[in-house]
Amino acid sequence: MTLPKTYRIKSFGCQMNVYDGERMAELLSARGMTAADGEDADLVVLNTCHIREKAADKAYSDVGRLTRDDGSKPLVALAGCVAQAEGAEAQKRSKLIDMVVGPQAYHRLPEMVAEAAAGRKSVDTDMPAISKFDALPRRKRSGPSAFLSVQEGCDKFCTYCVVPYTRGAEISRPFADIAAEAEQLVAGGAREITLLGQNVNAWESDGRDLAGLIRHLASFGELERIRYTTSHPVNMGDALIQAHADVPKLMPYLHLPVQSGSDPILKAMNRSHTTLSYLETIAKVRQARPDIAISGDFIVGFPGESDEDFAATLRIVDEVRYAAAFSFKYSPRPGTPAASMEGQIPQGIMDERLARLQARLAEHSTAFNAGCVGRTVPVLIDRVGRKPGQMIGKSPWLQSVFLSTDAGIGDMVDARLTHALPNSLGGELVSMAEAA
Ligand code: SAM
Ligand code: SF4
Repeated sequence: MTLPKTYRIKSFGCQMNVYDGERMAELLSARGMTAADGEDADLVVLNTCHIREKAADKAYSDVGRLTRDDGSKPLVALAGCVAQAEGAEAQKRSKLIDMVVGPQAYHRLPEMVAEAAAGRKSVDTDMPAISKFDALPRRKRSGPSAFLSVQEGCDKFCTYCVVPYTRGAEISRPFADIAAEAEQLVAGGAREITLLGQNVNAWESDGRDLAGLIRHLASFGELERIRYTTSHPVNMGDALIQAHADVPKLMPYLHLPVQSGSDPILKAMNRSHTTLSYLETIAKVRQARPDIAISGDFIVGFPGESDEDFAATLRIVDEVRYAAAFSFKYSPRPGTPAASMEGQIPQGIMDERLARLQARLAEHSTAFNAGCVGRTVPVLIDRVGRKPGQMIGKSPWLQSVFLSTDAGIGDMVDARLTHALPNSLGGELVSMAEAA
């Protein structure tokens, strides 16, 4: 087979995977390949997520669907956390898979593609200490809103979670590399950068912490907004909280997963924070930035979760009044301590708890959005809406705002928020902050 000319990358899961997918695309484009949307791409990369159940089964069924009507198939790379977890096993389970490449090894993708084109299958799930970044091309083009991975892996070992196993040890990328990548992104058109890491607020390099990195990025003239995610409650230090008070470019939004409102469950999860320490952190953050939007992650039905434990989760939801949240049923992950704990909760109870939790979370996000109506805020346009003349952008609190405007993608416009929808807001243009 000749070298593939076109590629398609399908990313599942978290923002880390979205970022990795973009970097793989840049890598393949730098080797002369072009992106293709359709089914007929010569190479398909499935950039998988392993965080919840049936991830591997789903990945194999996605692979199975890649065979074309005429019986031919593209070159297939299984990437991401399922690839890391399955390793060489993947090619035993599916003959269609040519390459298996883990999240720390994808800088080798072009070589692996060349080998696959020559008929040789390959597996690379090595975890070299973040050398992959040195082998990746410079960032060139960017949308108005860009992700920048500043930290890899995780050492927290929450008892339910596969991330420490699939993404390896927590390593902070060096400050100079991040600053250089941010400059490239801004030169390529980014006006907002979101710094990514599993415990991004624990990032440190050369004597700087995340607050120091944010302050440095805030000095870039053309960069207008800085965000970061995901933070761990135990790493929410005073310097970062202070940055929310005095760095205007740092957006008023904090994603701080609590997972449960019950201390015994948090202990069994090995979360190393309590409900009290979490609430104290939220209070400090709100003192520094009173209008901040707090979002969180929740797991219902962790082994041993009683009705009282679940009621405590509903209480913390009411206390924090989350502006946004992600909530999940506990999913036993093979090889994690919680998977073999006693007291696994039946699906029916998990379903019922999840429905109750999500209804409560929706009440708070709707109230938060309703509280924004009447305000005039800067909106960074990032998408075209479905209706004629409609554009969609992001408010400082990460809400989607629907506008009728002839402003283009990448423009920052002032909009008055006119009405709240369940997960977004409608607005009207006040004035163009900057002409296209
Ligand atoms: N590092 C982040 C943290 O600690 O919050 C996020 C990690 S994970 C990619 C995102 C979310 O997935 C977690 O916050 C948790 O709510 C959820 N999650 C992780 N493992 C899970 C599991 N086994 N079952 C259900 N939800 C899970
Ligand atoms: Fe998973 Fe916990 Fe690490 Fe987050 S902090 S990635 S939930 S082990």
